[in-house]
Amino acid sequence: MTTALYLADSYLKEAPATVVSVKDGKFVVLDQTIFYAKGGGQPCDTGKIVKGSEVYNVVYVGKFSGEISHEVDRPGLQPGDKVTLTLDWDRRYKLMRSHTAAHVLAALLNQGTGALITGNQLEEDHVRFDFSLETFDKPLLEAYLAKANVLFAKDVPVKWYELPREEALKIPGIVKMAEAAPPDLPVLRIVEIVGVDKQADGGTHVRNLKEVGKVELVKTENKGKNNRRIYFKLA
Ligand SMILES: [Zn+2]
Repeated sequence: MTTALYLADSYLKEAPATVVSVKDGKFVVLDQTIFYAKGGGQPCDTGKIVKGSEVYNVVYVGKFSGEISHEVDRPGLQPGDKVTLTLDWDRRYKLMRSHTAAHVLAALLNQGTGALITGNQLEEDHVRFDFSLETFDKPLLEAYLAKANVLFAKDVPVKWYELPREEALKIPGIVKMAEAAPPDLPVLRIVEIVGVDKQADGGTHVRNLKEVGKVELVKTENKGKNNRRIYFKLA
């Protein structure tokens, strides 16, 4: 099983690794990785795997049968190869900032209106966010974004750690997805925005809300009571 280094340290931009297996010349499994595998509304990382002077671009990273698979743009890597991994850090850092921002907005909406998240998708340049809300009210949503921006100007630490499932599920609001059950694991990873939110989550986040900067509304869409949709982006 590949060690997903990003779960403990989302700021690792480079790391050594050993190739464990290669399928069809371009699907690479490593002993450890800094590349986030697409999932939970967060897109995969991109970057490169370097062996000596050879560069293999990582174009997609997914989880297949529980295994993290890196798709590279050309064949050549072999099991046993010692390689260096490098992230496209600009992309990843934007996704970290957006992901943490999305948690803050979800927490504020949930605490203020009881809204549950019905869908969310981070992209490099914006975040799409769906939730259930009785009345759709654009000024109200703008007010919540403004509240979130107040928090992003503050020195608020973000921490992540593991808790036994039983203990984690006692935390109010630990799961804000309307229909999602927490993953069926004995230990859950918790992302805590101190004083704001605790969420069971496998994504990558910034260490402090100050790093988010500022967010702005792109547009809203009304797709029915259970799908009020908001698009926002990092300013
Ligand atoms: Zn999340």
